[in-house]
Amino acid sequence: MKSILGAISDKNSVKAMLEALDAKHAEMIALVQEWSAINSGSRNLDGLKVMEAEIVSAFAPLGAEVEFIELGDGEIVNNQGEVKIVPNGRSIRIYKHPQANRRVLMTGHTDTVFPIDSDFQTSRWLDDNTLNGPGVADMKGGIIVMLYALLAFEDGPFAGTIGWEVILSPDEETGSLKSGPLLMERARSADIGLTYEPALADGTLAGARKGSGNYTVVVRGKATHAGREFHQGRNAVVALSKIIVDLSELTDGRPELTVNPAVINGGVAPNIVPDMAWCRFNVRLKAAEDAEWFQNQLDAIINKWNSEDGYTAELHGGINRPPKDLSDANLKLMDLIKACGDDLGIAINYVATGGCCEGNNLAAAGLPNVDTLGVRGGAIHSSDEFVLVDSFVERAKLSALILTAFAAGQLDEVINLKNQKPEK
Ligand SMILES: [Zn+2]
Repeated sequence: MKSILGAISDKNSVKAMLEALDAKHAEMIALVQEWSAINSGSRNLDGLKVMEAEIVSAFAPLGAEVEFIELGDGEIVNNQGEVKIVPNGRSIRIYKHPQANRRVLMTGHTDTVFPIDSDFQTSRWLDDNTLNGPGVADMKGGIIVMLYALLAFEDGPFAGTIGWEVILSPDEETGSLKSGPLLMERARSADIGLTYEPALADGTLAGARKGSGNYTVVVRGKATHAGREFHQGRNAVVALSKIIVDLSELTDGRPELTVNPAVINGGVAPNIVPDMAWCRFNVRLKAAEDAEWFQNQLDAIINKWNSEDGYTAELHGGINRPPKDLSDANLKLMDLIKACGDDLGIAINYVATGGCCEGNNLAAAGLPNVDTLGVRGGAIHSSDEFVLVDSFVERAKLSALILTAFAAGQLDEVINLKNQKPEK
């Protein structure tokens, strides 16, 4: 692959732009420590508001338009099997030069998996290069990489030549149920997508991703005394158990499709026939067309119990992340980002994963994207979450060079390939 930098006529200015990032290391580390100490669990709307204000002030030097987009309420099935409304935070949209010919969508999330009452609330150093803390990698660190890449780019020789749009979601960690449609809508008016989930600790990025869906099945029967009128009862726990066996047998019904019945609840006491039971389960799938197959199988399993005397079964949830399979345009973008890495001495490799993120939603809207352009880190979603702090400047340079290559027309091949394909 040819050098990206080598093909840019004003390469000295680009080099100077990249080198200027070296001086930003301490600022970036200070900011991630500050943001890590703000609890912004997906359900902590007050904490998300504080992050909102932090983001607006950090992005202010870019002089971009800022907009907040209300996402509406979500639904959860509670432990009593009842549907409850839960409010969501807002998405933040920051954009500049929307009329430009080349447009990039940059996405991330301000929420973390750590609720307000979590024990894990602040960062601490594990060694000189390793900072442990909530969101340091996933993905407050990533937002900082995105920010400094944009600041560098808008200070560089191609400033003002591309349209960029940042969308930060408040509900990624609960599956982007409400921000997903917004991401897909914005994806349709962009040429490429860059998402700032963490890379693996060794710098490996994610390639193809499986799709994912979360569901709750609630079964209701009839409660009776287990001794006096057992046969008049309808045992919801037994019905649910049979449903769970049927669900688990869908694993491998399509290549690499897995079903994971994960959380169950039901019954009150051993001498009462239980009248309610529920199970939460997750499906992972590799091909977009498997979604319809899976839904048909689910409907058959559920409907069987609705035609059974004295029982009802309800299904909640659905597939929220379609599979991200790699289009020709996406593969080309990955190649060109690898070439950007080569110029910076950063080895870029890609690995397929069963995990999901916003990159799935962008791909489903036909947008070629690379979704792990944030910091290098690991142990995310646990109190061992860490970031390797030497990756801040390194990854900001990578993104600043990607933006520069895009502005210089070096990613036009991606756009051409994308436009050859009808949108999904
Ligand atoms: Zn994340």
